[in-house]
Amino acid sequence: MKTFRKEDVVGKTVIDTSGSVRGKVADVMFDLGGTVTLVVKGVDGNEFQVTIAKVTGISEHVVVRSAQAAEGAGSLTGTTCKFCGTPMAPDEKWCPSCGRSQA
Ligand SMILES: [Zn+2]
Repeated sequence: MKTFRKEDVVGKTVIDTSGSVRGKVADVMFDLGGTVTLVVKGVDGNEFQVTIAKVTGISEHVVVRSAQAAEGAGSLTGTTCKFCGTPMAPDEKWCPSCGRSQA
């Protein structure tokens, strides 16, 4: 499994797989139970937290899967990423695995 350092994620744009920009990573938190959480400065200026379990890919962007897309992923009507072949929901514009735009 690929590992990441704080420098790999802080300052990156957080997008969801439907293509919406959610904000920028401001910091990384962890607790003693092993949960890692990204602190994201949202586009509205308010901070929010994203647990690492919701992050599906980190590349030029930090990609989180939107709740609706998660339900559609893997369905027969879904497509696959043209770069890495990860199954994608029909409305996803960004690969949940490699974080690249399908446009
Ligand atoms: Zn991909």
